[in-house]
Amino acid sequence: MEIVSIQQKCYQPEYDPDKDEYFDKSPIKKFERNNIHFTCKCKINSQFRTLSEYKNHINTKTHQNFIKNYKIYNKELTEANKRIVELTRDNELLSRKNIDLVNENEILLKKNIEVKEENIELIKAVKNYRIELWSDLSE
Ligand SMILES: [Zn+2]
Repeated sequence: MEIVSIQQKCYQPEYDPDKDEYFDKSPIKKFERNNIHFTCKCKINSQFRTLSEYKNHINTKTHQNFIKNYKIYNKELTEANKRIVELTRDNELLSRKNIDLVNENEILLKKNIEVKEENIELIKAVKNYRIELWSDLSE
């Protein structure tokens, strides 16, 4: 006898940040056989396991009303989702800025090395000049 462990998961609709609304996206792939039983918050004891069961579920009036009002029922979640989108965009911008600054820093470090080398050469030249001047004076 095969022992099958059944997992239970709560179905979550996806958030579209451009339209600022929630939509149904199947958590089950075509012909996928899984042992996950999805429940939906739209109705107590609702359950689907296969793609066709999922499709039947999302076409019920109860579920469609639930999705339509999901934003209102889940205000905090919506705000958090919006914030995640904003922060992800900010993070991408800052990452690009950081790459630019790292490149700029590398150029400046190279210039700094060049200036230091020039400085060493100048110090040597001044020392040699002093020695020449000193020997000229002592002659
Ligand atoms: Zn539902």
